[in-house]
Amino acid sequence: MIRVPILMYHSISERPNPETKPLAVHPSAFAEQLSYLKERGFTPLTVADLVASVHRNNGRSLPERPVVVTFDDGYADFHSQALPVLERLGFPATVFLTSGWVRDAGKDAAGRPLDTMLTWSQAREAASCGIEIGGHSHSHPQLDQLPDDLLRQELRRNKALLEDKIGAPVATMAYPYGYSSGRVRREVRRAGYWAACAVSNAIAADRHDVLALPRLTVAEGTSMGMFSRAVEGSQVPLIYMRQRVLTKGYAVVRRTRYGLRRVRGLA
Ligand SMILES: [Zn+2]
Repeated sequence: MIRVPILMYHSISERPNPETKPLAVHPSAFAEQLSYLKERGFTPLTVADLVASVHRNNGRSLPERPVVVTFDDGYADFHSQALPVLERLGFPATVFLTSGWVRDAGKDAAGRPLDTMLTWSQAREAASCGIEIGGHSHSHPQLDQLPDDLLRQELRRNKALLEDKIGAPVATMAYPYGYSSGRVRREVRRAGYWAACAVSNAIAADRHDVLALPRLTVAEGTSMGMFSRAVEGSQVPLIYMRQRVLTKGYAVVRRTRYGLRRVRGLA
């Protein structure tokens, strides 16, 4: 069986704002986590590389200890904090970018970015350093709550903008908040993505749907002990209980919002 830990990061910052803080990782903790991967002989690859390898020859060309490092949303601190560490270690990674949040999105601006985001030129620079740029919707909505036409727009506009601005094919994406449904995954495939990442805090294995690859949340409260046990594949469900609660927290917020919308007669 193929088992590949796919790590999910958000902001890498010393001073995250209250909204990004629960999922932010301190730059020194990030550097320590990545050095651990290097020392323990893990070989990082991008999500597209992972999927291509599994698709091409059932993963036989995968390195002995594969790991995938991903970043959601596209915070500017990816460029200032994460990229230098990745470059120093020679690690590729995948950044899932919300196109409407890009700092110089201009007329394409959409949604409400949670912090200072990457510019297009910073994203291009990252891509030129071996970073895969993947999709993360255009405005970061809960995709499973959208009607078909808006769902398609979110996926296709994001993919087209990224491909236009970065100048490379965009083959993978991650669901905002990790949410998907059969309908969402069908549209993701129709939009031309080969693979998509969810959250779910489990190690990805070949039994998983390539359109719902589970990832391990690395967050503010992730100690080195938790990190090492997670990537080594022992006790994952237990160690990640705190983050699982956090994931459930999103669901509660979502239900509440949905409830409110219904009360107002908008849903
Ligand atoms: Zn996100």
